[in-house]
Amino acid sequence: MSKEQIVILGAGTGGTMTANRLRRRFGPDEAEIHVVDRNDRHVYEPGLLFVPFGLAQLEEIVRPRRRQLRNGIVFHQNEVEEVWTERDELLLDDGTVLAYDVLVVATGVRLQPEETEGMTGAGWNERVFTFYDPEGAEALRGALERFDGGRLVVNLVDMPIKCPVAPLEFAFLADWHLRERGIRNRTELVYATPLDGAFTKPIASEHLGSLLAEKEIELVTEFNAGEVDGIGGTLTSYDGRELDFDLLVTIPLHGGAPYVERSPGLGDALGFVPTDKGTLQTPVKPNVFALGDATDLPTSKAGSVTHFEAEVLTENIARYLADEELDAGYDGHANCFIETGFHKALLIDFNYETEPLPGHFPTVFGLPLLRESRLNHLGKLAFQWVYWHALLPGREIPGIGPAMPTAGKKRTPVHI
Ligand SMILES: Cc1cc2nc3c(=O)[nH]c(=O)nc-3n(C[C@H](O)[C@H](O)[C@H](O)COP(=O)(O)OP(=O)(O)OC[C@H]3O[C@@H](n4cnc5c(N)ncnc54)[C@H](O)[C@@H]3O)c2cc1C
Repeated sequence: MSKEQIVILGAGTGGTMTANRLRRRFGPDEAEIHVVDRNDRHVYEPGLLFVPFGLAQLEEIVRPRRRQLRNGIVFHQNEVEEVWTERDELLLDDGTVLAYDVLVVATGVRLQPEETEGMTGAGWNERVFTFYDPEGAEALRGALERFDGGRLVVNLVDMPIKCPVAPLEFAFLADWHLRERGIRNRTELVYATPLDGAFTKPIASEHLGSLLAEKEIELVTEFNAGEVDGIGGTLTSYDGRELDFDLLVTIPLHGGAPYVERSPGLGDALGFVPTDKGTLQTPVKPNVFALGDATDLPTSKAGSVTHFEAEVLTENIARYLADEELDAGYDGHANCFIETGFHKALLIDFNYETEPLPGHFPTVFGLPLLRESRLNHLGKLAFQWVYWHALLPGREIPGIGPAMPTAGKKRTPVHI
């Protein structure tokens, strides 16, 4: 094989794993691997959930990107400006033009709080916060410390969002945190969502809806947030419903990276990259692949998804370069720990076809599914170590592959 030029856009979860997996697979004389990211701060995003409650510090969850990349990978700290797929080249913000044989798009999503009227106006980061980025999570920590009761509203503006369970986890942890501080009895906790239930998938939605009720968190459904008044403390939906708040925790609108929209044929109207469900190849050109939050795939935007995709993607890049048929084996597999407070968590595991079911993961002797347990909470905490030391470096995890395991699952859902 002649020396191939592989360029990966984004050095977050998906870009870093893919680069390291490819480096392990191809020697330096077989492939040159370039990774581009606009900054050198790799954030372990699941840790952002814990920052507002003082359970994690930013310095524990942020590391230099370069240090996560194996030797022999070229890192460009640049903004991607545009991709010209018709001539297999792309432009960086310093004017550099990179040519590629294979391109991997892993630039995730962009938060767009400014798209909701009033959200980033007066009151932003004073009474209206998001914990979806490090600065917001840190600012919210201060606000929660000062919070002394009142109405705390958690709202997701619209789907898709990354980690669709994170806002629910925030509500559960807020309930726990306020009870620990003895001010839960003077706090109304509200969870407002554009969905018709607590979650997207019916069985999990029923379980999570029951948990909200048990914890006396009011669930407001089909609430499409249209306007925020950060001074008056009102969130208004497009159909005119109003929710008063003393503290608003928002998950803002998500879109794709701006360069995706600027690059002819690469993205859809929201800036996400149309991607084949099974192979992760894009329809724009056979040498362009995508993974993670940047895609338009009908599965969760989650690190677990990105990890499973990275395995299939790496194999498919090798097959593409060897002129072999691609493996259409990615089945939409996703799994998520859901913190529920009081040192417990639920675990859900699903794919494109199968919704989260009760049972155990990955086998009958594994972690309990759809059931609160201390073991799952410990699993969530231990995951950070696994992320830095096994997933990002591109190592295999014994017993956990890209395909959703069925061995421990109960096919007949148990209703609670
Ligand atoms: C609060 C929170 C909690 C979460 N909890 C979980 C969890 O418990 N479990 C789970 O599985 N997932 C969780 N996630 C989701 C998970 O973190 C993401 O799904 C995952 O990081 C996606 O990886 P990615 O590579 O697609 O995108 P990212 O990791 O976001 O990487 C994208 C990269 O592209 C770069 N980039 C973007 N545009 C450009 C450009 N124009 N030029 C150069 N670089 C660019 C960015 O700087 C970034 O580094 C959570 C997310 C959040 C926010």
